[in-house]
Amino acid sequence: MTVTWEEAGWERLAPGVGRVRLPVWDCTAGLVVGPDAALLVDAGSSLAEGARVCAAARALAGGAVRFLALTHPHFDHVFGAAAVEGAEIYAARGEGCGRGVYDDERGRAELVEDAVGNGLDRAAAEEAAAALVAPGHEVSGQLVLPLGGREVVLADVGPGHTGHDLAVLVPGDPAVVFCGDLVEESGEPQAGPDAVPSGWPAALDRLLGLGGEDALYVPGHGAVVDAAFVRAQRDALAARFGVSQ
Ligand SMILES: [Zn+2]
Repeated sequence: MTVTWEEAGWERLAPGVGRVRLPVWDCTAGLVVGPDAALLVDAGSSLAEGARVCAAARALAGGAVRFLALTHPHFDHVFGAAAVEGAEIYAARGEGCGRGVYDDERGRAELVEDAVGNGLDRAAAEEAAAALVAPGHEVSGQLVLPLGGREVVLADVGPGHTGHDLAVLVPGDPAVVFCGDLVEESGEPQAGPDAVPSGWPAALDRLLGLGGEDALYVPGHGAVVDAAFVRAQRDALAARFGVSQ
């Protein structure tokens, strides 16, 4: 590493694993540094933010970011993706046409309106939507991604927060699970029109199965939590959406 996590303003979670809480929407971007390759998890809310995240990730990794995993197709997680130049992009196949979320004109327009409604500058939103590229790799079930001397697991754990929820498990001591917005700590989990409430509790069961009791769970928004927090949020969502336990 050419800079430390602290110098970069990132939170170190485990050896070679960290994340940054981005301004305005408190959205998380994560980084896993392996001996031969680095994986970025989510890319921020605009091309400018994506470029900043990518630059910091390169400095932390001491080289290029080879892989980008997108936890779900919401503007604050994917609008920076095109700025992560040269990265192979992974997303959850999920339900329906996964690529349509990124390729479809209507899907892009909805992302723009959601972004603008949440306070992003319209020009920045339209620029990012136009630059969006469909993920080259769709994950069904689980996929092991080698980063040289370490591996990470990408898992299609949804649907729940959206129809395409991807979690990232980084085995280790402690293990780290990037949850996307299946888990939120800084507020209530957000269920928009593209949420699949009936599937959400089961998605959190799969998330807990992935990380186990001792993992650090990194929400899409907010502070790092433990398995007990995720389990409590699962139960609260089941009650909120009337899903039988
Ligand atoms: Zn979201």
